[in-house]
Amino acid sequence: MSNRIVCKFGGSSVADATQFRKIKSILEGNPERKIVVVSAPGKRNSKESKLTDLLYSSYDLAKKRLDFAGPWTLIRERYIEITQELSLQSTIREELDELEKILLNKPDDISADFVASRGEYLCAKIMSEFLGAKFIDAYPLIQFDSQYRITSKSYEDIAFALSDTDSLYVVPGFYGSDTLGNLKTFTRGGSDITGGILANACECRLYENWTDVSGLLMADPRIVQGAHSINYVSYREIRELAYSGASVLHDESIHPCRAKNIPINIKNTNSPGDQGTIIGPTPEHTSCIITGIAGRKDFSMLYIEKSMMNKERGFGRKVLTILEERGVSYELSPCGIDSMNVVVDSKTLHRVKTEVCAEIEQKMQPNKMKIFDNLALIATVGHGMVNQIGTAARLFGALAKEKINVRIIDQGSSEINIIVGVNEEDFEKAIVSIYNEFVG
Ligand code: ADP
Ligand code: ASP
Ligand code: MG
Repeated sequence: MSNRIVCKFGGSSVADATQFRKIKSILEGNPERKIVVVSAPGKRNSKESKLTDLLYSSYDLAKKRLDFAGPWTLIRERYIEITQELSLQSTIREELDELEKILLNKPDDISADFVASRGEYLCAKIMSEFLGAKFIDAYPLIQFDSQYRITSKSYEDIAFALSDTDSLYVVPGFYGSDTLGNLKTFTRGGSDITGGILANACECRLYENWTDVSGLLMADPRIVQGAHSINYVSYREIRELAYSGASVLHDESIHPCRAKNIPINIKNTNSPGDQGTIIGPTPEHTSCIITGIAGRKDFSMLYIEKSMMNKERGFGRKVLTILEERGVSYELSPCGIDSMNVVVDSKTLHRVKTEVCAEIEQKMQPNKMKIFDNLALIATVGHGMVNQIGTAARLFGALAKEKINVRIIDQGSSEINIIVGVNEEDFEKAIVSIYNEFVG
């Protein structure tokens, strides 16, 4: 294990020249901070859009041969403003001109992934010039297979490309290459994953994830005002919370660190002295029953009823296969003797709803089938819940007190997580009531 630290700076941390200067001083504060990963510039205020969203819009318009000057001007202005304020020579204008020309004349030659990736690419170029650091492109260095698993060759290549332990490196987040050499982005928020991969490949002693909050809070601060911060959370807990909606860290960034026991520290670029949250192995003891609550909206529940379903071997597998073949993955699937529920992402289901329903109708011949939309899933997570009698009763009691109807429950699959499905209109109220019950 080396004593280097990977530092990933998110969109708000690179939103303007002032933020760039904060980053420089953070890096100067600890010479072990040698590997820097950047996102694309994010919002400077709630009215603005992230540059990644503007890049996707520009591409969509260009593909339709429509005028993309609206989003494009905002992208251009932001990068030029940053370079001017930092007095950099930068070739950013030429790079922007080049991309604009392609969008205008040959949009079919490039992909949405390529255009979106330019957000991080250009930001990393500017950052490396500002810091006097080496720029290392993530393409084609970070290479993954069709399941987004990084190839072992790629881990070796990264270690080699970043092998000089005295150098400061800047790497763009969010993208890499597939095994055919196509540039591919991760899912949204994926610069966190790049940081985790580099920490693993370079055997860093720590992965610092710099953002706009002083660590993981027990609930989304936009829902629970003044939510307590968490000093320590295990890899397992953060994965459950991040996947369930605690968007401060991408859930897929945890595995590469966990594989080598590299701790992650979520820190605040705007308040670097705050301790933030440390993520590491499961602690022996926990003081609090729950560690955190997270949730997401936009789920649908496919309800299928058929008498004697329990006797029809393979019923569940066949239904899930029909969904799988149409690209729909499922979140939960509680079953009874004569019925099954499958909870899936609404947008994905609705794209293929007609075909899915027709095929289930034809192959499974259910007595009844219905899709319930506007479902939200809420995860209450914590090692402290294991073997703690009465936790579920307290949770459901809190929801009942607020007259919140629980549509679906899942506890068995992970003993550190209780998931409840509620109507979307009850989402915020449910999170607040669980928070108040356990944290007060
Ligand atoms: P970055 O651009 O730095 O990657 P993100 O916007 O992806 O930052 O993540 C930080 C944001 O995550 C916070 O500003 C906060 O609004 C949101 N968030 C959601 N849930 C939580 C939570 N449990 N704790 C902290 N922040 C959370
Ligand atoms: N810029 C990308 C996004 O907005 C990736 C990231 O910020 O992590 O999703
Ligand atoms: Mg993020």
